[in-house]
Formats: sequence, C-alpha cells, structure tokens
Amino acid sequence: MFWKKVQTKYALTDQGVKNTQQGTFWTVIVNLVVMAGMGILYTLMSRFMDTLTGGAPLPGALLFIGLTVIFLALSFLTHLQQYRATYGLVYGEIKTIRISLAERLRKLPLGYFGKRDLADLTETIMGDVNRLEHVWSHCLGYLYGSWISTAIIAVCLFAFDWRMALACLWGVPVAFALLYGSRKLAKKKSELTKEAAIQVADGIQETLENIREIRATNQEARFIDGLNGKIDYHEKTMLSGELSTGIFVNTASVIMRLGVATTILMGTNLILSGQIDFMRLFMFLLVITRVYAPFDQALALIAEMFISQVSANRLMEIRNTPTAEGAETFSPKGHDIEFEDVRFAYDDQQVLRGVSFTAREGEVTALVGPSGSGKSTCARLAARLWDIGGGTIRVGGVDISTIDPEVLLTDYSMVFQDVVLFDDTVMENIRLGRHGATDLEVLAAAKAANCDEFVSKLPQGYQTPIGENGAKLSGGERQRISIARALLKDAPIVLLDEATASLDVENETKVQGALSRLLAGKTVLVIAHRMRTVEAADQIVVLADGKVVESGRPKDLLRREDSMFRRMTKLQASSAEWSI
Ligand code: ADP
Repeated sequence: MFWKKVQTKYALTDQGVKNTQQGTFWTVIVNLVVMAGMGILYTLMSRFMDTLTGGAPLPGALLFIGLTVIFLALSFLTHLQQYRATYGLVYGEIKTIRISLAERLRKLPLGYFGKRDLADLTETIMGDVNRLEHVWSHCLGYLYGSWISTAIIAVCLFAFDWRMALACLWGVPVAFALLYGSRKLAKKKSELTKEAAIQVADGIQETLENIREIRATNQEARFIDGLNGKIDYHEKTMLSGELSTGIFVNTASVIMRLGVATTILMGTNLILSGQIDFMRLFMFLLVITRVYAPFDQALALIAEMFISQVSANRLMEIRNTPTAEGAETFSPKGHDIEFEDVRFAYDDQQVLRGVSFTAREGEVTALVGPSGSGKSTCARLAARLWDIGGGTIRVGGVDISTIDPEVLLTDYSMVFQDVVLFDDTVMENIRLGRHGATDLEVLAAAKAANCDEFVSKLPQGYQTPIGENGAKLSGGERQRISIARALLKDAPIVLLDEATASLDVENETKVQGALSRLLAGKTVLVIAHRMRTVEAADQIVVLADGKVVESGRPKDLLRREDSMFRRMTKLQASSAEWSI
C-alpha cells in the first residue's frame, strides 16, 4: 500500500520500487551500525572513567580492539551495500527508463506530438528523468531508512532516559512538519520555473528555426527582446523558488540542531539536581553527533523531492498515453486503399466528414480540392499516422487500425514536401529508405532518382555531409534524395505530396522523371496542388469541406458541365496565363 503510493508519486518502475526498498533496508542497517559504534565508544569511555576515578585496571582492552575492528569491517560492508542499493541500482534503472520512454514516444500516435512540442518532450526525457534520478538515488532510500532507524533509536533512547531523549529528538518532527507544510508552495514555484524554462527553450528553438525569416524581415531586435524577457522571467522564478525552499530547509535544519542546546541544558539541569551522572549526558552528546546526520542529506534534497512530483507527473503522462498498437503481421490481398465513411477531427475541429473512395493498385489516385479541404489529412490517415474517429480504412481488405503502425509502414513510401534530412552523408540519407541496403543498391536508387548529376558536383560525392536538415541542398535536390529513398524502399504503396510546384522547370523535369520510375505499378495517392499535372492521373477524388464531392477519371470529370474539377482546372489555367 505504502510502496504503491510511493511508486505513483515518484514515477518509479516495479524494479525502482524494489531498489528503493533495498536502499531503505540498507540505510536502516547502516544507521544502526553507526549507532552501535557509538555504543562501543560509550562503553569504552565509561570503563576509562571508572579506571580514572576508581583506579580499577582497564579490563578487556583486547576485546575492545576486536570489537572496533569488527565494527569497522561491518561499517564498510554495510555502507558498500547501501551505496550499491541507492546509487548503483538507480543509475542502471535510468538507462532503462530513458530507453523505454523513447520506445513509447516512437509508438505514440502523431496527434500526441501536436499537443506537446519538442522542447517540452526533450525536457521530460532529459531534465525530468535527471531530476527524478537524483531523488531516487539521493533521497527516497535515505529518507525512509532514516525514519525507520531513528524510530528504533528513539525507542531505545526513550527507554534509557525519556527526558534526555525528548530534549535530544524534539526538533526532528518539528523540522519535518515545517518542511511538509511548505510542500505546496515549493510545488507551485517549481511548476512556474518549469514553465518558464520550457518557454526559454521554445523561444531559442523558434528563433533558430526561423532565423532566415527574422533576418529578412528585420525582426532581430524584437525577437532578442522577447527572448531576453523570457530568460529574465526564468531567472526570477528560479531565484524566488530557490529562496523560498532555502529559507524553509535551513530553518528546519536549525530547528533540528536546537536539540543539541536543549540536550546540554536538560543534561546539566539533571546532573545538578543529582538525577543523572555525567556519563549519561556524555552518551546523549555522542548520540547527538550522529542522530541528525542521516537526515542531513535527505533534508538538503527534500525540496527536490517535493518538486520532483511535477516531473513525475509529466513522466507518468507519457507512460499513461495509450500507444497505437496492432498485429505484428500484415498480409493484405493486394494493396488497394479503401476509405469507407471516414471521419476525423484534430482535437475538436472536424476535418473529414464521411470520406469514401478507393485508390487501386497500379493506379495513380489524385486528391484535389481547395486548401484546407483535408487532402493531406487523408494521406496521413491512409498510413495510420493518426487513428481515425469513425469509419474504416482498409488496405488489401485489412482494416489498418488492427495493424501495428510500424509493421504497416513497411508497405509505404512517403514523399512529402517537407523532406527530413539528417546531418549525415548523402549516401546514408538515402540508405534510410532501406536499412542494410548495399552501397550499390543505394547508388542505383540515387541514379534512378536523378541524384547523380548534382551529387557528382559535391566535394566528396556521395560521402559529402549535407549539414543539419540538408541545409546545403536546394529544394529539388532534397526532393530527389527523398525519391531515391522511396525507390530504395520499393514499397507497394506510395503517398506523394505533389510538391513540384515550388521547383524551377529544369528541376521539375528531373523530379518528374524520377517519380515516374518510382510510381510504376504501385498504389499511388497523390496530394495534388496543380490541376494540370493531375490530368494524367487514373482517378481524381475531389474533396471539399471534408467530403468527397466528385470522383472519376479526369477526362470524364472535365467533360461534365457542373464539375468542380473542371472549374478548378479552368481557374488555375487562367491564373497561370494571367501571371505570365
Ligand atoms: P489540405 O491538405 O487539403 O490543405 P489538410 O488536411 O492539411 O488540408 O488540413 C485540413 C484542416 O485540418 C485544415 O483546416 C487545417 O488547419 C487542419 N489541420 C491540419 N493539420 C493539423 C494539425 N496537425 N493539427 C490541427 N489541425 C490541423
């Protein structure tokens, strides 16, 4: 029950709970062993006193030496175990947690990433896990263990002399009560600090990503001012958080240590009134040097424990978000893509309202329609990048919502407008299409995608690093790399965002040539922006306002008087003439 609570509160895994229990156990043992050392010291001292005052010979010197050696050995061994249980195990666990988080992120539906931005997620994987790691390794075992050992020691001390025990230990519960009282404030401050930190990270990311636009529009000063404001606010929230926890933690520490003064006061009083002898006071003074020590570490970090719950909640949120699951095998009959009465909404914005059409294998199906009508959404849903709200999408007769997205995607190639390239060589960027493809296969795909001509001009050919996100390449070149990837993958379904609109004529011809090689014999779904290029498609599906308004062969649609496709084609043709 208690451990279940701890587990949810601090986002521990089952193994993490076991580690904390071990840490707690060894902390209790360590603290008791240390106290036993004090016991040995006390007995030795009182024998000395007897010898000094009574002149009796000091008995059992060898025994004491033996006891001390045993104590030192025990102390070493138990400390070693405690270290292993608190630090060693936790550091192993961190690795598992980060990997499992990353695995989970890989399986989360794309819609999730729309709600939490990159800076926020990075902060969870790096910052939050770090913070929790510190709490798991430095606080939990120490604190729980210290509570238990102090309770055991307190019982012994109270049995020995309740007045002295009270004078010695009253500060401990008072100090912790004060700290627990300040918990809410610490949590609130921490949330503020966290938000501020994410805003700073967001601001920096946004500025770097849009640096070209910012420079082009002379907005540098405005952006820097904005960023400075965010950093100042972050500094302020951090200072205020540190200050308030600092005040509480230090006051608590002082209160705990007031026990030293009250023990001396109480001890002298009792000695003066003849109720105890000096050795008893001496024993409590010995105890005092050790009894607060276990709490010191936990106390310094207790504020961190409170605020770590903000991190724990963020971690749990990722763990509790349902992933897109499904069967590990996918054996469709052919690769026709069938949309049947598909409905879909981003949050509460309804985008598709019952879309039905079939994209056949070996044909090119073009989705056309005004901007915002849901074309890209259809393409994303066809690959189960999002899960639909109603209706069914089938590939080769199999409902894709029953298939693991990762397995499903092995049958898809995507050539979208925003080509993602990695800071690696041209060769490796193309090889992403099929893991383990040989250099020869990569080169063949690159050639078929018309990459040869621009790659041969790069200083190291295919081994040239292309900079972060391919910053050194033009739009057409990036697209040809993306087509080469798709050619290498040779998946039976191709989703294509017809992006040639932004290319110059020479580039466009080359991209078109590469595409025609890619598309042969596949099920092709094209998000079309220009009517002229889709006239060669086998089927046109016209979307408007999240519905299919007409579909058919382009020739047939163009012949119909009331056809929206015909209207759009005419409109675009006239605007093209006008712009010339
Ligand atoms: P099209 O490709 O036809 O231009 P989209 O499918 O991209 O249309 O978008 C359809 C609607 O969905 C638009 O109103 C757009 O604003 C909205 N939309 C697209 N992507 C997202 C997203 N990731 N989150 C929220 N709304 C989105």
